[in-house]
Amino acid sequence: MNSSNNAWLKEHNTVHLMHPMQDPKSLKDNLPVIIESGEGVHITDVDGRRFLDLQGGLWCVNVGYGRKEIVDAVSEQMQKLAYYSLFPGSTNPAAIALSQKLIEITAPEGMVKVSFGLGGSDAVESALKIARQYWKLEGQSDKYKFISLYNGYHGLNFGGMSACGGVAWRSSYEPLMPGFIQVEGPHLYRNPFTQDPEELVEICAQLMERQIEIQGAHTIAAIIAEPIQGAGGVIVPPASYWPRLRQIADKYNILLIADEVITGLGRSGSLFGARGWGVKPDIMCLAKGISSGYVPLSATLINQRVASAWERDAGFTSVYMHGYTYSGHPVSCAAGLAAIDIVLRENLAENAAVVGEYFRERLLELKGKHRAIGDVRGKGLMIAIELVKDRQTKEPFGPDEAYPLAISEGCVNSGVMLRTIVNKLIISPPLTFTKDNVDEVIEVLDRTFIANPW
Ligand code: PMP
Repeated sequence: MNSSNNAWLKEHNTVHLMHPMQDPKSLKDNLPVIIESGEGVHITDVDGRRFLDLQGGLWCVNVGYGRKEIVDAVSEQMQKLAYYSLFPGSTNPAAIALSQKLIEITAPEGMVKVSFGLGGSDAVESALKIARQYWKLEGQSDKYKFISLYNGYHGLNFGGMSACGGVAWRSSYEPLMPGFIQVEGPHLYRNPFTQDPEELVEICAQLMERQIEIQGAHTIAAIIAEPIQGAGGVIVPPASYWPRLRQIADKYNILLIADEVITGLGRSGSLFGARGWGVKPDIMCLAKGISSGYVPLSATLINQRVASAWERDAGFTSVYMHGYTYSGHPVSCAAGLAAIDIVLRENLAENAAVVGEYFRERLLELKGKHRAIGDVRGKGLMIAIELVKDRQTKEPFGPDEAYPLAISEGCVNSGVMLRTIVNKLIISPPLTFTKDNVDEVIEVLDRTFIANPW
């Protein structure tokens, strides 16, 4: 192998490599950009082209690229101890330290214990298993079902995928797990009910309650949702929705799981998405920003209510029969500590709020100029531009239509790395993004829309 030979890399990309969420055939003619290095909010490909990274890797590089503190922490940890497990009989200092740190920063949510994994799908899987075991320990083993939302994304392991609320993520792998139910969440731009946010929250809350009553509350373990839906198209619920979810969970004695894989660690403009809504979940799933993508890491946090089930002498086994070889991997945990330190020290949640607000203002100016922009929405530095064929009817571009790709490719060719999800342009840059960076993106987007009129 000569991986420094660009022609070789391009030729071999698809020979043995399966890319997530893509038809292998389509990759033969559409070579993805081969990213080789990163610095700050910029990335560079193997041909030396430099891009502003509007994707933040994949919603994850919150602190930006090339942060020496993280590199040093990883290097020191590897030299001292490359690996030791948390399985019975051993532990390691980095895992202990990171668990303390996570509990410290989630004190307002009342979290007390941490279970580590390697990615968002692990974090969700752990949350689902903890919720089921919690109810068994409580002597209510009938409570095993999960309710999630349409457009929700919870990773692609069987449990999380079964909670996903979109056909594209599910259909090739059915049958999925029994006991997973989806209901309508409040999507202001696209719903069959109303354009009034408060009315929509009330309708969606009622649909949730009806589903709980039809299933029987005594069968529901937890509601799982994202504080802001990410992969579903950056769907920001009205501010009253999450407080309503908390009320409903309490009313029916159901746990509330916040899937904070994207929203956690600052992206939504507060340190945690649920905190931004003033809500304390029972279980929190963290990944991505927890290590800023430098190494694989995730964490599932539980509050005292959930943890207390393991403190009693239960008839049911209280062994936590879950975890991975790499749960609490010392190198991942060392990176996590360094990454979180940067997020806190540089107040990146606040920067995401301020720069995100400015970004949306500037994007609304573009909406005034370009007809294909149907909606601009987001919170903090997670934003979507939804492209439509007709603003009145809101008819979206379908998965096989070229227009959204023409826009994103135009941006990439002008030095802005931008990803589409069907008809949505997704914006989730490092949280170190500045207003000057935003101005640069706006200029490129403007030029690209002018060059591709609809
Ligand atoms: N939950 C949410 C909300 C996510 O956005 C994602 C990934 N985008 C996941 C879970 C799964 O994370 P991973 O891809 O790291 O397994």
